[in-house]
Amino acid sequence: MTSTLGRHDVLESVRAFVGGGRRRLLIAGREVESMSGGTIADIDPATGEVLADVSAAGPEDVDRAVLSARRAADGAWARITPAERGRLLWRVSELLEENAAELAQIESLDTGKPLYEAMAVDVPQAVEHLRYFAGWATKIVGEALSPAAPTIPGEYLLYTRREPLGVVGAIVPWNYPLLIAMWKVAPALATGNTVVLKPSELTPLSALRLGQLALEAGLPPGVLNVVPGLGETAGAALAAHPAVDKVSFTGSVEVGRKILHASADRFARVTLELGGKSPSIVLPDADLDSVVPGIMTGGFTNQGEVCAAGTRLFLPRVGFDRILEEIATRAQAIRQGPGLDPQSRMGPLISAGHMERVLRFIESGRREGAALVAGGERNRDAGAGYYVRPTLFAGSDDMEITREEIFGPVLVALRYDDLDEAVRRANTSPYGLAASVWTRDIAKGIRAAHALRAGTVWVNGHLVLDAASPWGGFKSSGIGREMGSAAISAYTEVKSVFVGL
Ligand code: NAD
Repeated sequence: MTSTLGRHDVLESVRAFVGGGRRRLLIAGREVESMSGGTIADIDPATGEVLADVSAAGPEDVDRAVLSARRAADGAWARITPAERGRLLWRVSELLEENAAELAQIESLDTGKPLYEAMAVDVPQAVEHLRYFAGWATKIVGEALSPAAPTIPGEYLLYTRREPLGVVGAIVPWNYPLLIAMWKVAPALATGNTVVLKPSELTPLSALRLGQLALEAGLPPGVLNVVPGLGETAGAALAAHPAVDKVSFTGSVEVGRKILHASADRFARVTLELGGKSPSIVLPDADLDSVVPGIMTGGFTNQGEVCAAGTRLFLPRVGFDRILEEIATRAQAIRQGPGLDPQSRMGPLISAGHMERVLRFIESGRREGAALVAGGERNRDAGAGYYVRPTLFAGSDDMEITREEIFGPVLVALRYDDLDEAVRRANTSPYGLAASVWTRDIAKGIRAAHALRAGTVWVNGHLVLDAASPWGGFKSSGIGREMGSAAISAYTEVKSVFVGL
Protein backbone atom coordinates (compact mmCIF):
# COMPACT_ATOMS: atom_id res chain seq x y z
CA MET A 1 0.00 0.00 0.00
CA THR A 2 1.93 3.02 -1.22
CA SER A 3 -0.82 5.63 -1.36
CA THR A 4 -1.50 8.11 1.45
CA LEU A 5 -3.22 5.19 3.15
CA GLY A 6 0.15 3.78 4.09
CA ARG A 7 1.64 7.06 5.31
CA HIS A 8 -0.88 8.54 7.73
CA ASP A 9 -2.97 7.47 10.67
CA VAL A 10 -6.13 5.95 9.29
CA LEU A 11 -8.83 3.95 11.01
CA GLU A 12 -8.58 0.19 10.58
CA SER A 13 -12.07 0.23 9.04
CA VAL A 14 -10.94 2.78 6.45
CA ARG A 15 -7.88 0.72 5.60
CA ALA A 16 -10.11 -2.31 5.13
CA PHE A 17 -12.72 -0.45 3.08
CA VAL A 18 -10.33 1.42 0.81
CA GLY A 19 -7.42 -0.96 0.53
CA GLY A 20 -9.01 -4.33 1.32
CA GLY A 21 -9.80 -5.67 -2.13
CA ARG A 22 -12.10 -4.61 -4.90
CA ARG A 23 -15.09 -2.44 -3.97
CA ARG A 24 -18.08 -3.66 -5.90
CA LEU A 25 -21.31 -2.16 -7.24
CA LEU A 26 -24.36 -2.08 -4.98
CA ILE A 27 -27.42 -3.34 -6.82
CA ALA A 28 -30.66 -4.68 -5.33
CA GLY A 29 -29.12 -4.80 -1.86
CA ARG A 30 -26.11 -6.87 -2.92
CA GLU A 31 -22.49 -6.14 -3.72
CA VAL A 32 -21.81 -7.38 -7.23
CA GLU A 33 -18.99 -7.29 -9.78
CA SER A 34 -19.72 -5.44 -12.99
CA MET A 35 -20.97 -7.83 -15.69
CA SER A 36 -18.16 -6.90 -18.05
CA GLY A 37 -15.53 -7.23 -15.31
CA GLY A 38 -14.43 -3.62 -15.91
CA THR A 39 -12.70 -1.76 -13.09
CA ILE A 40 -11.61 1.75 -12.13
CA ALA A 41 -8.17 2.44 -10.67
CA ASP A 42 -9.10 5.10 -8.12
CA ILE A 43 -6.09 7.46 -7.86
CA ASP A 44 -4.89 9.14 -4.67
CA PRO A 45 -4.55 12.84 -5.61
CA ALA A 46 -1.98 13.39 -2.85
CA THR A 47 0.48 10.94 -4.41
CA GLY A 48 -0.71 10.00 -7.89
CA GLU A 49 -0.68 6.35 -6.85
CA VAL A 50 -3.55 3.87 -6.90
CA LEU A 51 -5.73 4.21 -3.81
CA ALA A 52 -8.47 1.67 -4.47
CA ASP A 53 -9.73 -0.85 -6.97
CA VAL A 54 -13.40 -0.35 -7.85
CA SER A 55 -15.80 -2.18 -10.16
CA ALA A 56 -16.90 -0.02 -13.10
CA ALA A 57 -20.53 -0.29 -14.08
CA GLY A 58 -21.35 -0.69 -17.76
CA PRO A 59 -24.73 -0.14 -19.44
CA GLU A 60 -25.88 -3.66 -18.53
CA ASP A 61 -25.14 -3.02 -14.83
CA VAL A 62 -26.97 0.31 -14.97
CA ASP A 63 -29.90 -1.55 -16.50
CA ARG A 64 -29.91 -4.07 -13.63
CA ALA A 65 -29.74 -1.24 -11.09
CA VAL A 66 -32.59 0.71 -12.71
CA LEU A 67 -34.79 -2.39 -12.86
CA SER A 68 -34.11 -3.11 -9.19
CA ALA A 69 -34.97 0.52 -8.35
CA ARG A 70 -38.16 0.19 -10.42
CA ARG A 71 -39.20 -2.95 -8.53
CA ALA A 72 -38.55 -1.27 -5.18
CA ALA A 73 -40.42 1.88 -6.23
CA ASP A 74 -43.49 -0.17 -7.16
CA GLY A 75 -43.10 -2.66 -4.30
CA ALA A 76 -41.54 -2.48 -0.84
CA TRP A 77 -40.88 1.26 -0.87
CA ALA A 78 -44.41 2.11 -2.05
CA ARG A 79 -45.99 0.04 0.71
CA ILE A 80 -44.32 1.53 3.78
CA THR A 81 -45.84 4.55 5.52
CA PRO A 82 -44.35 8.03 5.25
CA ALA A 83 -43.56 7.84 8.98
CA GLU A 84 -41.59 4.65 8.47
CA ARG A 85 -39.78 6.24 5.51
CA GLY A 86 -38.84 9.18 7.70
CA ARG A 87 -37.63 6.86 10.49
CA LEU A 88 -35.48 4.86 8.07
CA LEU A 89 -33.85 8.00 6.69
CA TRP A 90 -33.22 9.22 10.23
CA ARG A 91 -31.63 5.85 11.02
CA VAL A 92 -29.31 6.28 8.04
CA SER A 93 -28.36 9.72 9.38
CA GLU A 94 -27.50 8.17 12.76
CA LEU A 95 -25.25 5.60 11.12
CA LEU A 96 -23.53 8.36 9.12
CA GLU A 97 -22.96 10.24 12.36
CA GLU A 98 -21.66 7.17 14.18
CA ASN A 99 -19.26 6.57 11.29
CA ALA A 100 -18.38 10.24 10.76
CA ALA A 101 -14.65 9.86 11.40
CA GLU A 102 -14.43 6.96 8.97
CA LEU A 103 -16.46 8.72 6.26
CA ALA A 104 -14.40 11.89 6.62
CA GLN A 105 -11.17 9.94 6.17
CA ILE A 106 -12.55 8.16 3.11
CA GLU A 107 -13.65 11.48 1.62
CA SER A 108 -10.35 13.17 2.39
CA LEU A 109 -8.34 10.30 0.88
CA ASP A 110 -10.44 10.09 -2.26
CA THR A 111 -10.81 13.83 -3.01
CA GLY A 112 -7.61 15.18 -1.42
CA LYS A 113 -9.53 17.71 0.70
CA PRO A 114 -8.24 18.53 4.19
CA LEU A 115 -9.65 16.16 6.80
CA TYR A 116 -10.84 19.04 8.95
CA GLU A 117 -13.05 20.27 6.09
CA ALA A 118 -14.53 16.80 5.60
CA MET A 119 -15.19 16.62 9.36
CA ALA A 120 -16.64 20.14 9.55
CA VAL A 121 -18.60 20.29 6.31
CA ASP A 122 -19.01 17.18 4.14
CA VAL A 123 -20.11 14.65 6.72
CA PRO A 124 -22.13 16.79 9.20
CA GLN A 125 -23.87 18.60 6.34
CA ALA A 126 -24.79 15.26 4.75
CA VAL A 127 -26.27 14.24 8.12
CA GLU A 128 -28.19 17.53 8.47
CA HIS A 129 -29.51 17.21 4.96
CA LEU A 130 -30.82 13.74 5.57
CA ARG A 131 -32.49 14.82 8.81
CA TYR A 132 -34.10 17.84 7.20
CA PHE A 133 -35.69 15.66 4.51
CA ALA A 134 -36.50 12.80 6.92
CA GLY A 135 -38.75 15.40 8.59
CA TRP A 136 -40.40 16.21 5.26
CA ALA A 137 -41.43 12.57 4.64
CA THR A 138 -44.57 13.01 6.78
CA LYS A 139 -45.38 16.51 5.50
CA ILE A 140 -45.85 16.01 1.77
CA VAL A 141 -49.35 17.30 1.18
CA GLY A 142 -51.69 18.27 -1.61
CA GLU A 143 -54.36 20.96 -1.51
CA ALA A 144 -58.14 21.02 -1.34
CA LEU A 145 -59.24 23.48 -4.05
CA SER A 146 -62.43 25.35 -4.89
CA PRO A 147 -63.40 24.74 -8.53
CA ALA A 148 -63.73 28.13 -10.29
CA ALA A 149 -65.91 27.33 -13.32
CA PRO A 150 -65.65 23.64 -14.35
CA THR A 151 -65.94 22.95 -18.11
CA ILE A 152 -68.66 20.42 -17.32
CA PRO A 153 -70.85 22.09 -14.73
CA GLY A 154 -71.52 20.21 -11.54
CA GLU A 155 -70.51 19.92 -7.95
CA TYR A 156 -67.04 18.50 -7.38
CA LEU A 157 -64.63 17.69 -4.62
CA LEU A 158 -61.31 18.87 -6.10
CA TYR A 159 -57.95 18.15 -4.56
CA THR A 160 -54.31 17.61 -5.50
CA ARG A 161 -51.82 14.95 -4.48
CA ARG A 162 -48.03 14.95 -4.63
CA GLU A 163 -46.86 11.58 -5.90
CA PRO A 164 -43.32 10.22 -6.29
CA LEU A 165 -41.85 10.30 -9.80
CA GLY A 166 -40.53 6.73 -9.60
CA VAL A 167 -36.85 6.05 -10.32
CA VAL A 168 -34.33 8.88 -9.95
CA GLY A 169 -30.92 8.69 -11.65
CA ALA A 170 -28.51 10.78 -9.58
CA ILE A 171 -25.22 11.72 -11.26
CA VAL A 172 -22.72 13.57 -9.08
CA PRO A 173 -19.27 15.19 -9.36
CA TRP A 174 -16.06 14.60 -7.44
CA ASN A 175 -15.72 17.76 -5.33
CA TYR A 176 -18.26 16.92 -2.59
CA PRO A 177 -19.07 13.29 -3.40
CA LEU A 178 -21.02 12.39 -0.26
CA LEU A 179 -22.69 15.75 0.33
CA ILE A 180 -23.87 16.33 -3.24
CA ALA A 181 -25.11 12.72 -3.41
CA MET A 182 -27.14 13.52 -0.31
CA TRP A 183 -28.62 16.68 -1.89
CA LYS A 184 -30.31 14.25 -4.30
CA VAL A 185 -30.75 11.02 -2.34
CA ALA A 186 -32.38 12.62 0.73
CA PRO A 187 -35.28 14.46 -0.97
CA ALA A 188 -35.73 11.71 -3.58
CA LEU A 189 -36.18 9.01 -0.93
CA ALA A 190 -38.19 11.23 1.44
CA THR A 191 -40.76 11.76 -1.31
CA GLY A 192 -41.04 8.01 -2.02
CA ASN A 193 -38.77 7.62 -5.07
CA THR A 194 -35.97 5.11 -5.42
CA VAL A 195 -32.48 6.02 -6.59
CA VAL A 196 -29.64 4.82 -8.79
CA LEU A 197 -26.63 6.87 -7.72
CA LYS A 198 -23.65 7.24 -10.06
CA PRO A 199 -20.69 8.82 -8.28
CA SER A 200 -17.81 10.29 -10.23
CA GLU A 201 -15.28 7.74 -11.45
CA LEU A 202 -12.66 9.85 -9.64
CA THR A 203 -14.30 9.55 -6.21
CA PRO A 204 -16.55 6.49 -5.94
CA LEU A 205 -15.79 5.45 -2.35
CA SER A 206 -18.04 7.46 -0.04
CA ALA A 207 -21.14 6.74 -2.16
CA LEU A 208 -20.44 3.00 -1.86
CA ARG A 209 -20.04 3.33 1.91
CA LEU A 210 -23.28 5.34 2.06
CA GLY A 211 -25.03 2.52 0.17
CA GLN A 212 -23.76 -0.03 2.70
CA LEU A 213 -24.89 2.07 5.66
CA ALA A 214 -28.32 2.60 4.09
CA LEU A 215 -28.78 -1.18 3.85
CA GLU A 216 -27.56 -1.60 7.41
CA ALA A 217 -30.17 0.96 8.49
CA GLY A 218 -32.87 -1.22 6.95
CA LEU A 219 -33.61 0.45 3.61
CA PRO A 220 -35.23 -2.24 1.44
CA PRO A 221 -33.00 -3.67 -1.32
CA GLY A 222 -33.17 -1.65 -4.53
CA VAL A 223 -34.20 1.63 -2.86
CA LEU A 224 -30.64 3.00 -3.15
CA ASN A 225 -28.34 1.44 -5.75
CA VAL A 226 -24.78 2.69 -6.28
CA VAL A 227 -23.07 2.23 -9.66
CA PRO A 228 -19.63 3.81 -9.99
CA GLY A 229 -18.54 3.99 -13.59
CA LEU A 230 -17.30 6.24 -16.34
CA GLY A 231 -19.44 9.20 -17.34
CA GLU A 232 -19.63 8.33 -21.03
CA THR A 233 -20.73 4.75 -20.31
CA ALA A 234 -22.47 4.37 -16.92
CA GLY A 235 -23.56 8.03 -16.70
CA ALA A 236 -24.82 8.17 -20.27
CA ALA A 237 -26.68 4.85 -19.86
CA LEU A 238 -28.38 6.13 -16.72
CA ALA A 239 -29.38 9.46 -18.29
CA ALA A 240 -30.86 7.72 -21.34
CA HIS A 241 -32.53 4.78 -19.58
CA PRO A 242 -36.23 4.59 -20.48
CA ALA A 243 -37.20 3.48 -16.95
CA VAL A 244 -35.50 6.46 -15.26
CA ASP A 245 -38.18 9.05 -14.54
CA LYS A 246 -35.89 11.83 -13.41
CA VAL A 247 -32.23 12.65 -13.86
CA SER A 248 -30.70 14.83 -11.19
CA PHE A 249 -27.28 15.97 -12.30
CA THR A 250 -24.54 18.07 -10.75
CA GLY A 251 -21.47 18.73 -12.84
CA SER A 252 -20.15 20.69 -15.78
CA VAL A 253 -22.12 22.72 -18.31
CA GLU A 254 -20.96 20.51 -21.20
CA VAL A 255 -22.17 17.29 -19.60
CA GLY A 256 -25.33 19.02 -18.35
CA ARG A 257 -26.21 19.78 -21.96
CA LYS A 258 -25.73 16.09 -22.88
CA ILE A 259 -27.97 15.05 -19.98
CA LEU A 260 -30.70 17.41 -21.16
CA HIS A 261 -30.52 15.97 -24.69
CA ALA A 262 -30.52 12.39 -23.38
CA SER A 263 -33.64 13.07 -21.29
CA ALA A 264 -35.51 14.95 -24.00
CA ASP A 265 -36.83 12.03 -26.06
CA ARG A 266 -38.82 10.57 -23.17
CA PHE A 267 -39.46 13.92 -21.40
CA ALA A 268 -37.74 12.69 -18.24
CA ARG A 269 -37.71 15.27 -15.45
CA VAL A 270 -34.33 16.95 -15.08
CA THR A 271 -32.54 19.02 -12.47
CA LEU A 272 -29.19 20.45 -13.53
CA GLU A 273 -26.73 22.03 -11.09
CA LEU A 274 -23.87 23.28 -13.22
CA GLY A 275 -20.86 25.53 -13.02
CA GLY A 276 -20.27 29.04 -11.81
CA LYS A 277 -17.96 32.04 -11.85
CA SER A 278 -19.34 33.79 -8.83
CA PRO A 279 -18.57 37.46 -8.12
CA SER A 280 -17.75 38.89 -4.69
CA ILE A 281 -18.32 42.65 -4.58
CA VAL A 282 -16.57 44.50 -1.77
CA LEU A 283 -17.95 47.98 -1.03
CA PRO A 284 -15.58 50.71 0.23
CA ASP A 285 -17.34 50.76 3.63
CA ALA A 286 -16.97 46.98 4.21
CA ASP A 287 -15.39 45.69 7.40
CA LEU A 288 -12.08 44.39 6.08
CA ASP A 289 -11.51 42.24 9.16
CA SER A 290 -14.37 40.03 8.06
CA VAL A 291 -14.12 40.60 4.28
CA VAL A 292 -10.64 39.18 3.86
CA PRO A 293 -11.27 35.92 5.77
CA GLY A 294 -14.62 35.71 3.94
CA ILE A 295 -12.92 36.01 0.57
CA MET A 296 -10.38 33.37 1.58
CA THR A 297 -13.19 30.96 2.53
CA GLY A 298 -15.22 31.83 -0.56
CA GLY A 299 -12.30 31.39 -2.94
CA PHE A 300 -10.05 28.73 -1.45
CA THR A 301 -12.28 26.26 0.42
CA ASN A 302 -11.84 22.75 -0.96
CA GLN A 303 -8.84 23.90 -3.11
CA GLY A 304 -11.23 26.23 -4.91
CA GLU A 305 -12.95 23.16 -6.38
CA VAL A 306 -16.33 24.62 -5.48
CA CYS A 307 -19.10 25.45 -7.95
CA ALA A 308 -20.02 28.62 -6.05
CA ALA A 309 -16.45 29.75 -5.29
CA GLY A 310 -16.11 33.53 -5.22
CA THR A 311 -13.52 33.87 -7.96
CA ARG A 312 -14.23 37.31 -9.45
CA LEU A 313 -13.35 39.84 -6.76
CA PHE A 314 -14.74 43.29 -7.50
CA LEU A 315 -12.70 45.60 -5.27
CA PRO A 316 -13.09 49.42 -5.05
CA ARG A 317 -10.37 51.32 -6.91
CA VAL A 318 -9.57 53.20 -3.71
CA GLY A 319 -8.17 50.62 -1.28
CA PHE A 320 -7.65 48.02 -4.05
CA ASP A 321 -3.95 47.51 -3.36
CA ARG A 322 -4.39 47.14 0.36
CA ILE A 323 -7.10 44.47 0.10
CA LEU A 324 -5.12 42.66 -2.58
CA GLU A 325 -2.04 42.61 -0.39
CA GLU A 326 -3.96 41.19 2.57
CA ILE A 327 -5.44 38.40 0.47
CA ALA A 328 -2.02 37.65 -1.06
CA THR A 329 -0.35 37.45 2.36
CA ARG A 330 -2.94 35.00 3.61
CA ALA A 331 -2.88 32.95 0.40
CA GLN A 332 0.89 32.56 0.64
CA ALA A 333 0.53 31.32 4.23
CA ILE A 334 -1.89 28.49 3.39
CA ARG A 335 -0.21 25.22 4.20
CA GLN A 336 -0.64 22.63 1.48
CA GLY A 337 -0.29 18.91 1.94
CA PRO A 338 -2.17 15.60 1.91
CA GLY A 339 -5.72 15.87 3.20
CA LEU A 340 -5.00 13.43 5.99
CA ASP A 341 -2.11 15.50 7.36
CA PRO A 342 -3.68 17.41 10.28
CA GLN A 343 -1.52 20.45 9.40
CA SER A 344 -2.88 20.72 5.84
CA ARG A 345 -5.16 23.64 5.07
CA MET A 346 -5.35 22.98 1.33
CA GLY A 347 -5.04 19.63 -0.42
CA PRO A 348 -4.08 18.57 -3.95
CA LEU A 349 -6.36 19.04 -6.95
CA ILE A 350 -8.37 16.00 -7.97
CA SER A 351 -6.28 14.69 -10.88
CA ALA A 352 -3.23 15.26 -13.04
CA GLY A 353 -5.50 16.31 -15.92
CA HIS A 354 -7.35 18.84 -13.79
CA MET A 355 -4.08 20.25 -12.42
CA GLU A 356 -2.78 20.71 -15.98
CA ARG A 357 -6.02 22.49 -16.88
CA VAL A 358 -5.73 24.86 -13.92
CA LEU A 359 -2.05 25.55 -14.76
CA ARG A 360 -3.05 26.32 -18.36
CA PHE A 361 -5.50 28.93 -17.07
CA ILE A 362 -2.73 30.45 -14.96
CA GLU A 363 -0.53 30.59 -18.07
CA SER A 364 -3.29 32.29 -20.03
CA GLY A 365 -3.64 34.89 -17.25
CA ARG A 366 0.05 35.69 -17.55
CA ARG A 367 -0.11 35.76 -21.34
CA GLU A 368 -3.08 38.12 -21.35
CA GLY A 369 -1.24 40.52 -19.07
CA ALA A 370 -2.87 39.93 -15.68
CA ALA A 371 -0.61 40.86 -12.75
CA LEU A 372 0.31 37.81 -10.70
CA VAL A 373 0.12 38.73 -7.00
CA ALA A 374 0.43 35.30 -5.34
CA GLY A 375 1.02 31.67 -6.28
CA GLY A 376 0.93 30.90 -9.99
CA GLU A 377 2.61 27.50 -10.06
CA ARG A 378 2.57 23.87 -9.06
CA ASN A 379 3.66 23.30 -5.47
CA ARG A 380 6.10 20.40 -5.50
CA ASP A 381 7.14 21.13 -1.90
CA ALA A 382 3.75 19.90 -0.74
CA GLY A 383 4.30 16.45 -2.22
CA ALA A 384 4.24 14.41 -5.40
CA GLY A 385 0.48 14.94 -5.82
CA TYR A 386 -1.42 17.54 -7.80
CA TYR A 387 -0.78 20.66 -5.74
CA VAL A 388 -1.25 24.14 -7.18
CA ARG A 389 -0.37 27.14 -5.03
CA PRO A 390 -3.27 29.42 -4.07
CA THR A 391 -3.14 32.01 -6.82
CA LEU A 392 -4.24 35.64 -7.03
CA PHE A 393 -4.25 37.83 -10.12
CA ALA A 394 -5.19 41.46 -10.69
CA GLY A 395 -6.88 41.41 -14.08
CA SER A 396 -9.65 42.72 -16.27
CA ASP A 397 -13.10 41.54 -17.36
CA ASP A 398 -12.15 40.35 -20.85
CA MET A 399 -9.45 37.88 -19.74
CA GLU A 400 -10.04 34.16 -19.94
CA ILE A 401 -9.26 33.75 -16.23
CA THR A 402 -12.11 36.18 -15.46
CA ARG A 403 -14.63 34.64 -17.82
CA GLU A 404 -14.10 30.88 -17.52
CA GLU A 405 -14.76 28.58 -14.59
CA ILE A 406 -11.31 27.37 -13.47
CA PHE A 407 -12.49 25.16 -10.57
CA GLY A 408 -9.21 25.54 -8.71
CA PRO A 409 -7.49 27.96 -6.32
CA VAL A 410 -7.28 30.91 -8.71
CA LEU A 411 -8.87 34.30 -7.94
CA VAL A 412 -8.98 37.41 -10.12
CA ALA A 413 -9.30 40.87 -8.57
CA LEU A 414 -11.00 43.57 -10.67
CA ARG A 415 -11.16 47.34 -10.01
CA TYR A 416 -14.49 49.16 -10.02
CA ASP A 417 -15.67 52.73 -9.37
CA ASP A 418 -19.33 52.51 -8.37
CA LEU A 419 -21.68 49.79 -7.21
CA ASP A 420 -24.09 49.86 -10.16
CA GLU A 421 -21.15 49.41 -12.49
CA ALA A 422 -19.82 46.48 -10.43
CA VAL A 423 -23.23 44.77 -10.43
CA ARG A 424 -23.60 45.31 -14.19
CA ARG A 425 -20.17 43.83 -14.85
CA ALA A 426 -20.81 40.95 -12.43
CA ASN A 427 -24.00 40.14 -14.36
CA THR A 428 -22.25 39.85 -17.74
CA SER A 429 -21.16 36.27 -16.93
CA PRO A 430 -23.13 33.48 -18.63
CA TYR A 431 -23.14 31.80 -15.22
CA GLY A 432 -25.47 32.76 -12.36
CA LEU A 433 -25.02 30.33 -9.49
CA ALA A 434 -24.09 32.61 -6.58
CA ALA A 435 -22.71 36.03 -5.63
CA SER A 436 -21.70 37.95 -2.55
CA VAL A 437 -21.74 41.59 -1.48
CA TRP A 438 -19.67 42.91 1.40
CA THR A 439 -20.80 46.15 3.09
CA ARG A 440 -21.78 47.76 6.40
CA ASP A 441 -24.68 49.51 4.60
CA ILE A 442 -27.32 46.78 4.65
CA ALA A 443 -29.75 48.66 2.40
CA LYS A 444 -27.06 48.90 -0.29
CA GLY A 445 -26.26 45.23 0.21
CA ILE A 446 -29.90 44.23 -0.21
CA ARG A 447 -30.35 46.39 -3.30
CA ALA A 448 -27.29 44.78 -4.86
CA ALA A 449 -28.56 41.31 -3.83
CA HIS A 450 -31.79 41.98 -5.73
CA ALA A 451 -29.96 43.26 -8.82
CA LEU A 452 -27.48 40.37 -9.07
CA ARG A 453 -28.54 37.60 -11.46
CA ALA A 454 -27.71 34.55 -9.32
CA GLY A 455 -29.56 31.74 -7.56
CA THR A 456 -28.09 32.58 -4.16
CA VAL A 457 -26.70 35.92 -2.94
CA TRP A 458 -24.89 36.41 0.33
CA VAL A 459 -24.61 39.80 2.02
CA ASN A 460 -21.50 39.72 4.22
CA GLY A 461 -20.75 36.05 3.67
CA HIS A 462 -19.90 33.50 1.01
CA LEU A 463 -20.60 29.75 0.68
CA VAL A 464 -23.31 29.63 3.34
CA LEU A 465 -25.65 26.81 2.34
CA ASP A 466 -28.56 25.32 4.24
CA ALA A 467 -30.85 22.36 3.60
CA ALA A 468 -33.84 24.73 3.94
CA SER A 469 -32.59 27.19 1.31
CA PRO A 470 -33.27 26.50 -2.40
CA TRP A 471 -30.01 25.96 -4.30
CA GLY A 472 -29.50 26.28 -8.03
CA GLY A 473 -28.49 28.58 -10.83
CA PHE A 474 -29.71 31.31 -13.11
CA LYS A 475 -28.63 31.22 -16.77
CA SER A 476 -26.03 28.54 -17.71
CA SER A 477 -25.60 27.52 -14.06
CA GLY A 478 -28.51 25.14 -14.36
CA ILE A 479 -32.19 24.32 -14.37
CA GLY A 480 -34.30 23.80 -11.27
CA ARG A 481 -33.54 23.96 -7.57
CA GLU A 482 -32.38 21.49 -4.96
CA MET A 483 -32.91 21.74 -1.20
CA GLY A 484 -35.75 23.23 0.80
CA SER A 485 -39.39 22.82 -0.22
CA ALA A 486 -38.23 23.35 -3.84
CA ALA A 487 -36.73 19.85 -3.71
CA ILE A 488 -40.06 18.37 -2.62
CA SER A 489 -41.63 19.85 -5.77
CA ALA A 490 -38.67 18.69 -7.86
CA TYR A 491 -39.08 15.03 -6.83
CA THR A 492 -42.89 14.78 -7.07
CA GLU A 493 -45.63 15.08 -9.69
CA VAL A 494 -48.81 16.98 -8.90
CA LYS A 495 -52.04 15.15 -9.65
CA SER A 496 -55.48 16.82 -9.64
CA VAL A 497 -58.44 14.66 -8.63
CA PHE A 498 -62.05 15.69 -9.44
CA VAL A 499 -64.76 13.75 -7.64
CA GLY A 500 -68.28 14.39 -8.97
CA LEU A 501 -70.63 14.66 -6.03
P1 NAD B 1 -18.46 16.47 -14.98
O1 NAD B 1 -19.61 17.11 -15.67
O2 NAD B 1 -17.28 16.12 -15.75
O3 NAD B 1 -18.95 15.11 -14.29
C1 NAD B 1 -20.04 15.06 -13.40
C2 NAD B 1 -20.62 13.66 -13.41
O4 NAD B 1 -21.15 13.39 -14.71
C3 NAD B 1 -19.61 12.55 -13.14
O5 NAD B 1 -20.23 11.56 -12.35
C4 NAD B 1 -19.30 12.03 -14.52
O6 NAD B 1 -18.90 10.69 -14.53
C5 NAD B 1 -20.66 12.18 -15.20
N1 NAD B 1 -20.61 12.23 -16.67
C6 NAD B 1 -19.59 12.63 -17.47
N2 NAD B 1 -19.95 12.52 -18.77
C7 NAD B 1 -21.22 12.05 -18.79
C8 NAD B 1 -22.15 11.77 -19.82
N3 NAD B 1 -21.84 11.90 -21.12
N4 NAD B 1 -23.38 11.34 -19.48
C9 NAD B 1 -23.73 11.22 -18.18
N5 NAD B 1 -22.89 11.47 -17.16
C10 NAD B 1 -21.65 11.88 -17.45
O7 NAD B 1 -18.13 17.42 -13.75
P2 NAD B 1 -16.98 17.24 -12.67
O8 NAD B 1 -15.68 17.53 -13.33
O9 NAD B 1 -17.16 15.94 -11.95
O10 NAD B 1 -17.36 18.41 -11.64
C11 NAD B 1 -17.00 19.73 -11.84
C12 NAD B 1 -18.15 20.53 -12.35
O11 NAD B 1 -19.28 20.37 -11.50
C13 NAD B 1 -17.86 22.02 -12.33
O12 NAD B 1 -18.33 22.62 -13.52
C14 NAD B 1 -18.68 22.52 -11.14
O13 NAD B 1 -19.03 23.86 -11.19
C15 NAD B 1 -19.86 21.62 -11.17
N6 NAD B 1 -20.52 21.59 -9.86
C16 NAD B 1 -21.71 22.24 -9.68
C17 NAD B 1 -22.33 22.26 -8.44
C18 NAD B 1 -23.65 22.96 -8.22
O14 NAD B 1 -24.24 22.80 -7.16
N7 NAD B 1 -24.14 23.75 -9.15
C19 NAD B 1 -21.71 21.61 -7.36
C20 NAD B 1 -20.49 20.97 -7.58
C21 NAD B 1 -19.90 20.96 -8.83
